[in-house]
Amino acid sequence: MTGPRETIRVPNVEVLRVTYELDSVMLPSNKRFVMSLALEVSGEDRYPVIDVGRCTTTGELQFRNPTLEELRFLYAVMKGAALLHPLLQQNYGAAPKWSRVIYFEPFIETVDVQWPAEMAKGNDLVAVTISYPPGRGYQEMYSSSSSSTPTKHSEVPKDETIADVKSNAAVCFRQCMLCKEEVNREQLVCCGHCSAVVYCSLRCQKQHWKEEHKDICGLYRAMMEREEELAMKIFTFACSAEQPCKWLESLGIHQKGMWRRKCSCYSHYPYGLLPIPGGLWDSWGGLDENEYPHDSPFHNHFRDGISSSILLSGWLEYYNLRSLPLTSPVADILSHPLTVYYILTALSISSKNLLLKNKEVVLHYLGPEGELDWMTAFAEIGHLLHGMGNIQIIMVGPEVPTNLSGTTSGIGSRVRVNLVRGLYQDEANYLPAPHIIVALNCGLGNYSSWGGALDLINSMKIPAYFTNESELSCLNGKQVLRSAGLHISYPVTPNPFRSPVRIFGNSTNFPSYSNCFLLGVNT
Ligand SMILES: [Zn+2]
Ligand SMILES: [Zn+2]
Ligand SMILES: [Zn+2]
Repeated sequence: MTGPRETIRVPNVEVLRVTYELDSVMLPSNKRFVMSLALEVSGEDRYPVIDVGRCTTTGELQFRNPTLEELRFLYAVMKGAALLHPLLQQNYGAAPKWSRVIYFEPFIETVDVQWPAEMAKGNDLVAVTISYPPGRGYQEMYSSSSSSTPTKHSEVPKDETIADVKSNAAVCFRQCMLCKEEVNREQLVCCGHCSAVVYCSLRCQKQHWKEEHKDICGLYRAMMEREEELAMKIFTFACSAEQPCKWLESLGIHQKGMWRRKCSCYSHYPYGLLPIPGGLWDSWGGLDENEYPHDSPFHNHFRDGISSSILLSGWLEYYNLRSLPLTSPVADILSHPLTVYYILTALSISSKNLLLKNKEVVLHYLGPEGELDWMTAFAEIGHLLHGMGNIQIIMVGPEVPTNLSGTTSGIGSRVRVNLVRGLYQDEANYLPAPHIIVALNCGLGNYSSWGGALDLINSMKIPAYFTNESELSCLNGKQVLRSAGLHISYPVTPNPFRSPVRIFGNSTNFPSYSNCFLLGVNT
């Protein structure tokens, strides 16, 4: 981070005061602002109010209302501090034993904070840098690096769908399909024919039926009927995560290792920046030694003494190969790397041929999120290659944190992962040309920002594979692909390496699993 970064300084001669005022004196916009700051309401009816105090020459404090600009900075600083504070590491050696002052390891980190909607000026983000000791600059820390480029803040889209999808999946409340009201489980009404859609009342159900549902109910019913086929019965751990925290808890892996990305408890950490206090060996936190794949090659797979990449057809084969018990939930996280591996070796003939010739395959991996914290799991791709070829995975997306963008890490000797922050259509020209493009759980139908990427995929004519969580999202995705002029050459097919863990939508009951269905274009 040495690029020119425009810094706007907030004058620091004034102080902030928070007082509690009656609900009735607050404007609704102020209440929303207070809630976005996560300031607590006092009692039933009192809201915190923020004032700016200035010390006059006579030494008294005078208070005034903050300007919108000041509120925006306050929000950004608090949000940034909340995100980065947990990354500070205490330095026990630095302080004298009797001292009560806490010393920290030198620290400097920058996060991009999105303004809350009601305070947003267009689509902008603001970069907040937190450092210890205070006031330390980037130039001091990274004076020698010159390769990094300034972040293009203005080009990062404000894509609320991404955030919504994630947080809702984690909380899992039920929501009426029609009026969007939150629904109590006891009052829940489902469509009697398809049972796929959730309503708050019979009234909403009837109205929705008349307006649109009656035309699609048959199709939904057919999608619902695949429940049996899609459930993976071979596993013996609980495969239903209606409430992710509870599910993780029941397996003894809640808030541990890589599993921290499976619920929203750690969502305050930007993707890719989950701290790993116990070191990489702790990534599979909470599981016994024999329950996860070790970062070591396969020994029991030699065909006539010649090494060759391992072809896998499903989880049972993989679990047997790694001698994992079927009580182990690792398939839930390994679904991402193994789906990538399956596409490379079983679905894409060209990349399979390259691997057989011991060449390097370049794979563009679009829109990584939680995967950015799962590098230990991606190392398994290298072991499965089993002495054949090399893979360079370039993960591109707006969720790649600024300070990891441009970095390369070797995860095992055969897999390199490069991280690039930005939109695919903006960055692709600067990247090594891909042999194959992959976007997992991409929710094509939801994202307006997919357009540019799809046009690019269309013009490059490179095979691209997508996964979706449910058949409905595939259906929407197909329409988006078609309208971008792409033809689906690998039809929607259940992915043998989908996660076995059932996830639940807010307004629908469709069988949904991470990476459930595969489809491809230009294949
Ligand atoms: Zn309703
Ligand atoms: Zn129905
Ligand atoms: Zn949790």
